[in-house]
Amino acid sequence: MNKTFYITTPIYYVNDIPHIGHAYTTIACDVMSRYMRMRGFDTHFLTGTDEHGQKIQAAAEAKGMTPQELVDKIHVNFKELWKVLNISNDDFIRTTEPRHVRVVQAMFKKLMDQGDIYKGSYEGWYCVPCETYVSESGMGENRTCPDCGRALTMMREESYFFRASKYVPQLIEHYEKNLQGVMPRIRYNEIMSFLRGEVRDQSVSRTTLKWGIPIPGDEKHVVYVWFDALINYATAVGYLDDPETFRKYWPVVRHMVGKDIIRFHCIIWPLMLLALGINVPVSVVAHGWWTVDGEKMSKSKGNVVDPFKMAELYGADAFRYFLLREVPFGSDGDFSEAALVGRINSDLANDLGNLLNRTLQMIVSYAGGAVPQGGENDPLDAKVRALGEATLGLVDKAMETFSYDEALKHIWAFIGRGNKYIDETLPWKLHKEGQKEGQEERLDAVLHTLYEVLRLSALLVAPYIPESAEKLWKQLGLPGSPLTERLDGFRWGGGAGTKVAKAEVLFPRIDLEQWKKERKKERDARTGKLEHGTEPEHEPQIGIEGFRSVEMRVAQILKAEEIPKSKKLYKLEVDLGYEKRTICAGIKPFFKPEELTGKRVVVVANLKPAKLAGVESNGMVLAASMKDAAGTAESLALIAPASDVPLGSRVS
Ligand SMILES: [Zn+2]
Repeated sequence: MNKTFYITTPIYYVNDIPHIGHAYTTIACDVMSRYMRMRGFDTHFLTGTDEHGQKIQAAAEAKGMTPQELVDKIHVNFKELWKVLNISNDDFIRTTEPRHVRVVQAMFKKLMDQGDIYKGSYEGWYCVPCETYVSESGMGENRTCPDCGRALTMMREESYFFRASKYVPQLIEHYEKNLQGVMPRIRYNEIMSFLRGEVRDQSVSRTTLKWGIPIPGDEKHVVYVWFDALINYATAVGYLDDPETFRKYWPVVRHMVGKDIIRFHCIIWPLMLLALGINVPVSVVAHGWWTVDGEKMSKSKGNVVDPFKMAELYGADAFRYFLLREVPFGSDGDFSEAALVGRINSDLANDLGNLLNRTLQMIVSYAGGAVPQGGENDPLDAKVRALGEATLGLVDKAMETFSYDEALKHIWAFIGRGNKYIDETLPWKLHKEGQKEGQEERLDAVLHTLYEVLRLSALLVAPYIPESAEKLWKQLGLPGSPLTERLDGFRWGGGAGTKVAKAEVLFPRIDLEQWKKERKKERDARTGKLEHGTEPEHEPQIGIEGFRSVEMRVAQILKAEEIPKSKKLYKLEVDLGYEKRTICAGIKPFFKPEELTGKRVVVVANLKPAKLAGVESNGMVLAASMKDAAGTAESLALIAPASDVPLGSRVS
């Protein structure tokens, strides 16, 4: 029977914009799947999107779409990113698919029939406008909604509960026997101490929620999103529809998650499975979080790493390699483009790229382009071979515990050994001497050894940098793809006689000075920051009559009011001395209404009226703005006369 392996990413919340965290989890799963396939495992790799919940419904309403239309449109963002990052998932599940809805309802019913789901009432702090419960830890100051800032109210509704507490002793016993059930160890300990505390029965339905899976037989309730989402892992391998596939993959399932969602995956989900009589996952593997240049990632800082952009700038392989090489899996990491460029230049271009180029050139120049038969005729050759064979084992051991960085360190130690071997054997010298002293045999053995180092390296790096590994394979003159080869089928010496192909640069070195200049230019363009010698974008020149046609006058703000529909606009009432009028101005993020009352400003008085957020605006208030790194306005200053002049005075 085939060895099997099943790995899952969490299903991503469909309304999120894909960021480095999504990319990291998915790349880690992809590397593991590719590795297991190359180890001969029948592998199933699942990812997908979580598509129910109040926020989706609200987002859809705001866009004038149905929730289904919205999720149909935006789930594609993730599919596109996985294509760009070379993700080899076997399935992509969406929680709105009928195959999933059926399983959720069946599991719910089974638990209800056996008495493990019962009716009770749920109580919590609730934001009425946002239609959502807010946890004690998630609420703002004075019990306000973190999203809209309004006061929360205590709410009580009928709800179904899952009898989680009943299965806790069984789960504790399971983890006590299975130390790898939660990885790494620090998370295992966290889960065990939580389990030994109080685990309450879990509310699994809502009547306030509309966009979700209806509960069979009681359709005013929908299944609470977490209960719905976790079940995807079982749906996808045929829990209901395909028992044979389920039997094949479920016993070997591993979930990879960020450390923030381990309680759901290591406690709630296994308790649900125990109640259903299904075995719990082999492991839940939790990884850490990324900061960017030492700071927490946030939209307002404009430092959110866009994986699409990283792949475009540096290539998907370099990005994949960096994420898994830079930090021990499970720990938090810091992302910096400078560090990424450093790794491209040193590890990829220098270590691997150079070994390939030097070796191929020597095989072409000294051996007519075909790998010599050459047996080992120096202890050094056997040493290099032994390290290669040992590396296969070391990598395997590292991958067993999801220690990607360890695996890569071993692989790169072997690649480094190859480069050192060139320095030790000096093939160009052997070539020269060979003509007079009969050193041809030695040279053959050296070229043969170097080729085998590369052939094995191509296989070892393939799960991490699949696209480059295929190029490397091709340059080595080998047929097919390293990704369909078996790592455990590798035999040292198997490359003899192969005709190599043309050497090409695998990873171009990045010129650091040039790179710094380009990044600075790009950053400045985004922020609108100007320095001597750099030019802002200019408008065409105008004559004095063009300038005079803009009627600017001094005015005073009498009142600033919010426009409910708009996040940016204030409705201002201004006094021009000769008349009062309404002007809408996009300055709400920068001022409170009371800060504006009484302020003198300069307005364009002869601008054609325009309707903004449903309000007619008659003119424009002048302001100077400076942008932040994200290119959104960061600071803003209103333009005012420096000394007192009568309202209505013309500015020229
Ligand atoms: Zn709210």
